[in-house]
Amino acid sequence: MQSVVEGALRFQREVHPTRADLFSALADGQAPEVLFVSCSDSRVVPELLTQRDPGELFVIRNAGNLVPAYSASPGGEAASIEYAVAALGVRDIVVCGHSGCGAMTAVAAGTDPALPAVESWLHHATPPKVAGASAPHAPTPAEIDELARENVRLQLTNLTTHPSVAAGLAENRLRLHGWLYDIATGQVHALDPGTGRFLALIDA
Ligand code: ZN
Repeated sequence: MQSVVEGALRFQREVHPTRADLFSALADGQAPEVLFVSCSDSRVVPELLTQRDPGELFVIRNAGNLVPAYSASPGGEAASIEYAVAALGVRDIVVCGHSGCGAMTAVAAGTDPALPAVESWLHHATPPKVAGASAPHAPTPAEIDELARENVRLQLTNLTTHPSVAAGLAENRLRLHGWLYDIATGQVHALDPGTGRFLALIDA
């Protein structure tokens, strides 16, 4: 923890003053254009991998970059999505999975009885066809990454059940994107809606 405290103090002393104009403007409010949904994994840092400044990404992070389908008792993800879309007016939503995801490993391997909250949460990551595809087993890296891609597709579908997202899509003021980030190479592959395949990210 000491290194985290030292980092915060170094940020105050050395980094914040160099971006005084930016932070002064941000003190008055935010206007991010992108909602970025990613995993809590310490190796996945949305602002780093997209090279964005503070104020540019509205971020939801949780185990497995999951978006529970909208329900009668909306939780933190639903509230954050609604705020980003309906209050902040983000134009794009990215659901970003990643290589070697521990949540996807748990989905494939079967959950640990010692982690009941994880088991409950990961139900949002288990589409029926994946759940029934094979018995729990120690997955290969390729299987984990394929599950991560399948999971991104599922979470994009879940996103559309949220009323604010559905309205934004119907009114053509919102776009959804599925990404997979590879930790070892830094590469991002993006879901091609036409083919359902993940293709290397290109400059739009
Ligand atoms: Zn993960």
